[in-house]
Parts: sequence; structure tokens; C-alpha cells
Amino acid sequence: MRSAVPCVRTRLRELRSVADYEQHLMRVNIAMKMKHYDFIFAGGGLAGLSLAYHLAHSPLRDRSILIVDRDPKDRNDRTWCFWTRRPTLFDAIVQREWSQIDFVGEGFARRIGLGDYRYKMIRGLDFYRHVRQEMGARPNIVFAQGHVERVEDSAEGAQVWIAGEPVSAAWVFDSRFDAKNFVPNPARCRCLTQHFKGWEIETASDAFEPTAATLLDFRTPQKNATRFFYVLSFSRRRALIEYVTTRADRYDDALEEYIKKGLGIGDYKIVATEGGVNPMSAYVFPRRAGARIMNIGTRGGQIKPSTGYAFLRIQQDSAAIVQSLLTRGHPFDVPAPSRRYRLYDTLMLDVMQRHGDQIESLFSALFKSNPIARVLRFLDEEGTLAENAQLIASLPPQLFLQALFRKRGF
Ligand SMILES: Cc1cc2nc3c(=O)[nH]c(=O)nc-3n(C[C@H](O)[C@H](O)[C@H](O)COP(=O)(O)OP(=O)(O)OC[C@H]3O[C@@H](n4cnc5c(N)ncnc54)[C@H](O)[C@@H]3O)c2cc1C
Repeated sequence: MRSAVPCVRTRLRELRSVADYEQHLMRVNIAMKMKHYDFIFAGGGLAGLSLAYHLAHSPLRDRSILIVDRDPKDRNDRTWCFWTRRPTLFDAIVQREWSQIDFVGEGFARRIGLGDYRYKMIRGLDFYRHVRQEMGARPNIVFAQGHVERVEDSAEGAQVWIAGEPVSAAWVFDSRFDAKNFVPNPARCRCLTQHFKGWEIETASDAFEPTAATLLDFRTPQKNATRFFYVLSFSRRRALIEYVTTRADRYDDALEEYIKKGLGIGDYKIVATEGGVNPMSAYVFPRRAGARIMNIGTRGGQIKPSTGYAFLRIQQDSAAIVQSLLTRGHPFDVPAPSRRYRLYDTLMLDVMQRHGDQIESLFSALFKSNPIARVLRFLDEEGTLAENAQLIASLPPQLFLQALFRKRGF
């Protein structure tokens, strides 16, 4: 009984008010009326909504779907960027795209044309609204707000427990994840957390160059960690400035300092904020969590360990899951992570963990000595072995060799 009290308090704090809580119960009850679905999504963030959207645009479009999230998804909690030279399912909601990026290191800075790549940006809120509006209009798809307590195999397939009630499905896709309490096995794998804090600001006079996005700007004290900013400029007077660090920090102080000294902007107002935490880990996240339960998104290891990018990987994974359902009758026949790129990620994480402040020199060498297409293919895990060798040869060898020797136990 004692342990239930803090749990109820936490729920009430999460739901903000009694009215919210009643509305929450009502929505969950509506979802409960139907007790069995073809697919249930535990978590309706990027991965849950992406996979549901891919299903809804496939021959499986008429299957019954329940998407449960504890959050109403009515805030712009994050902004996704990705580079691509191919169309995506979500091009209609790309808010901005750039054909040039800026790299700024300590002793090296360059504006880089992206060739046939584009760096695209989608606001979280636009994504949630777009998917929920289009899919919410379909009679076979139900959205519910509720806290998923647990997911388990059952006689009918799998069962999801929401507010003490079980709902069953042929397949459950689970994307619940708590980055702050994520502890894999530190002895066996490198694991860091990537902290984001972003301010969208409006300036009193022209301050930004809207034709280029700043991908990486390392001009901030590294303090034994990896710290950088990126700038997504929407107009001459409006931009999202994001601070990214591998250690918890005084994010607001760092942002204030960078805007003032790095960008030379004195007069501005903050119009929106965002933030969150990602795992950066070479841990092999299990995909199969039960006979009929599959982990997706961050929980399914879809964040690129050494960079934190996930948007396109999640789209590719969603397409592969749908294909597996269509051809194999189950979702698990998806490509395994590349062993070669996992090794690169592990070495990079090792360097980041032990010498985080030297990542800037590594990225400077990467951008200085390689054509951008080679860099992007490497980060997308698409480069050939020969291309990888050329790229790795351009990096300071000592750090990687040390990391490799450590991995091999020398
Ligand atoms: C601030 C920020 C910026 C990022 N920027 C980029 C970027 O520019 N490019 C890029 O490629 N990647 C980026 N990422 C990384 C990655 O794309 C995101 O973290 C992405 O949202 C991961 O998708 P997901 O579905 O796994 O997690 P989420 O989108 O977080 O979705 C998980 C969902 O599960 C819900 N949930 C959790 N527990 C429960 C529960 N018990 N019951 C019900 N619901 C639950 C949550 O409310 C959430 O909606 C960023 C991450 C952050 C935090």
C-alpha cells in the first residue's frame, strides 16, 4: 500500500489536474471498449507514429490499430533534422531545408555545399499533428492517452496493461524508454547520454543567414566532455539554437554565452524551448521482447550510437518491419545492425567517453579532409570498406588505435 501512494502522486502530477485525469480515463475507456487489436503501439512518439503511418500506407492499412501514449503530444518537444537525397513519406511537413551547412571548429570553419543532399527539418508538433490528424480520421485506428504499465505475451498474442486494464493484440510495438534511468551493462559497453537544450529566438535586428544551417559549432569550453551547438535559421531574425552535451550542464548559461559571444547577438527574446536526453550506446538493444512484442525506436536501438540521429533510421526500420509483416507474417525479419559500423561506433564512443574534449579535432579533420558525400555516407552507414578506409586515414590515428587496443584487451 505504501508504494502505491507516491505512484498515484506521480500520476496526478503528470496529468496536471483532476480534469485532465478524468479526460484521460475517458479516452482510455473508449479505447478499452474494443478489447483486441491487430497492432498496439505502446508509445506514440516518433517511432510509434512512424511505424503506424507506414502501416496505414501499406496493404495492411485496414488492420485495427491502438496507439497509446501517456502524453497528449500537443507540444513541440523536439525538432528533427536529417540529411537525405531521397524523398521521404514526411516531405509535406518539412518546415525548412538547406543545401549548405556550416562546420565551425576551434581552428577550422567551412561552409559546405551539400550537392544533391538536403538538410531537412521537421518540427515535432507538426509531425504529431500530421500523423494524428490523418490517421485519427480512419475508423480502424484509435488514439488513447494513458500510461502503459506493462506489456507481456498472452494467449491471444500480447497484452498491454493501461490504467490497470488489459488490452490484447496480435502484435505489440513498444517504444517506451526512460533515457535518464537507462543503465545497460557499463562493463561491457560504452554508454553516454546526449543532453539537448534548445531555444528558438527572435532577434531585434538581422542576425542569421537563412540559406545555411550550422551543423556543428564547437566554440564552447569542452570541459572533458563533447559539447557543441547547432543553429537552424528560419529567417534573418529567427532561429533555433540547440546546445548538445555528453554531460548534464548549466544549459541555459551555455546558450546565453554562445548567443552573446559566439553569435554576437545582444538583443533577442526566447519564443520557444525544447530539450531531452538520448542514450548514446553501442549496447545491442534487443528487438524481440516477447513472442509477439517488438521493441522499436530508441528502445529498439534505432538511435545511431555515435551521433544521436534517428529520424531516417526509424523510417527505414518502419519500412522494413512492414515488409517483414507482409512477406513473413511477423515483424522481426529486419536487417541486423552492421558489425563494421558497430565497431566504428564503439571506438568513437570510447574516445568520447575518455577524451570527449578531443572530438572537436576529430570532426575538424573529418570535415576538412573529406568530400561531404563521403562523410554523410559514412554517418549513414552506407560507405564501402574502401571509402571507410580513406575516411579513417584522415583522422588523428592515436585516439582510435588506443580505443581499438582497449577493445581487444591489450
Ligand atoms: C531534443 C531532441 C532533439 C533531437 N533531434 C534529433 C534530430 O535532429 N535528428 C534525429 O535524427 N534525431 C534527433 N533526436 C533523437 C531521436 O530522433 C528522438 O529521440 C526520437 O524522438 C526517438 O523516437 P522514439 O519513438 O524512440 O522516442 P519518443 O519520440 O520519445 O517516443 C516515445 C513515446 O513513448 C511515450 N511513453 C513513454 N513511456 C510511456 C508509458 N509508460 N506509457 C505510455 N507512453 C509512454 C512517450 O510519451 C513518447 O511519446 C533528438 C532527440 C531529442 C531528445
